[in-house]
Amino acid sequence: KLIEQYQRAAVVGLGISGLSVVRYLRSHSIEVIALDSRSVPPAAQALQAVCPEVKTVFGAFDAEHLDGAELIVVSPGVSIKEPMLVQARRRGAKIVGDIELFLQVNQKPLIAITGSNGKSTVTALVGEMVCAGGMVPLVAGNIGKPVLDALTDNEPYDVAVLELSSFQLETTNQVPADAAAILNISPDHLDRYDSMGDYVLAKSRILRGAQRAVLPRHDDQFTMITQTGDVLSFELDEPHQANEFGVKKRSSGRWLMHGKTPLMRLSDIGLLGLHNVKNVVSAFALTDFLGLTLESQVAAVKAFTGLPHRMQTVASDGGVIWVNDSKATNVGATITALRNLESPVVWIAGGQGKGADFADLADAITDDVRVLILLGEDADKIDQALRSKVKIERVKDMEAAVVKAAEYARPDDVVLLSPACASFDMFTGFEHRGAVFIACVERLLQRGAA
Ligand code: ADP
Repeated sequence: KLIEQYQRAAVVGLGISGLSVVRYLRSHSIEVIALDSRSVPPAAQALQAVCPEVKTVFGAFDAEHLDGAELIVVSPGVSIKEPMLVQARRRGAKIVGDIELFLQVNQKPLIAITGSNGKSTVTALVGEMVCAGGMVPLVAGNIGKPVLDALTDNEPYDVAVLELSSFQLETTNQVPADAAAILNISPDHLDRYDSMGDYVLAKSRILRGAQRAVLPRHDDQFTMITQTGDVLSFELDEPHQANEFGVKKRSSGRWLMHGKTPLMRLSDIGLLGLHNVKNVVSAFALTDFLGLTLESQVAAVKAFTGLPHRMQTVASDGGVIWVNDSKATNVGATITALRNLESPVVWIAGGQGKGADFADLADAITDDVRVLILLGEDADKIDQALRSKVKIERVKDMEAAVVKAAEYARPDDVVLLSPACASFDMFTGFEHRGAVFIACVERLLQRGAA
């Protein structure tokens, strides 16, 4: 174990996870120096409070500042191609991330999840399934609290459920997961990778050391890399083998299936959108080895309405479902939302477009989109790009958008806030925008009920 081999370490990047690394190393009496390229890193003050003895160097990275440390723990926000780190690796320093430190001591079953989209959703849902099955999950990694905090604070858990970004995987040697998933892969973060191939390679590191791989069916780019012969596949089509998860049309409607075994009705899923059906199917595959009861898995899925601001169902009234997808801060995310909904949509969008080409949205607009209600700075641009495709209403703020949406919505419709834009023209962030939307919907429905 690394923490037994080294007496000194450098921690590079002092955000929340960097701070958790410092605390963990200090709890093993390892001497620590903390570096950050920012002059005031986010966790600088907190570090002063919990580990005042730790030496810090803030400002532009310099190999000198590492002070010859042989163990370097890097935050996911810092590229391992950073010259200071490249140089350190050349002189033989060991470079790892917090996940590697965690995995070296974790003794409990491990579920690991990566992919370009849906990671947080699947990770949270798997956590809920574990809970419903009467076990305590540790839901961590790229989601929730930093994983090492749980160790430092001696928090008990039965199953570790980790969301791992490609950056976290780059600083992790082996992932000895009982079940590891790559949910999907699409171009992302290409600013930090030389090519799509490099990005795929980083993601596929999650399969090194995995006992079981959970992978999309009909996509051999990962099946080829997997060393384990135990592959569970998932998709939206009908499964035929015992190691396949999917969806089947039966006389009673569409069902989620494990091989020939029905799991649950698709219409009982609390999450909206076919992409989320895929996420649910993969969660069944990931938890299969735990031997949870089907009842507990299904109960968790039914109760799970999604993470805040990601296709989150916030109200259901008179047959109309109100959905907050404020996290859709770009065109791609909104296309996913529109393509995967299976009901008529009253769509609220707009904000800061960050130079995106709104014409890309046109292909996702079917006759199912009744109206597009626009607000925010770039409403004109969106209006111009889409006016030939869909009826457009312009409003001045979120309150007016919600009131206008209610005028259009009929039973079985979804009112969808999926802005395809950043929020900073009118809000402090996408969370604030989503919260304002929810408050407006609640006020509207209360007025209706009064
Ligand atoms: P991540 O943690 O990978 O960023 P999230 O679960 O937070 O993913 O979802 C973020 C957004 O990604 C969602 O709002 C949705 O637009 C999109 N998304 C979620 N699941 C999928 C999927 N299986 N395929 C494609 N897009 C998805």
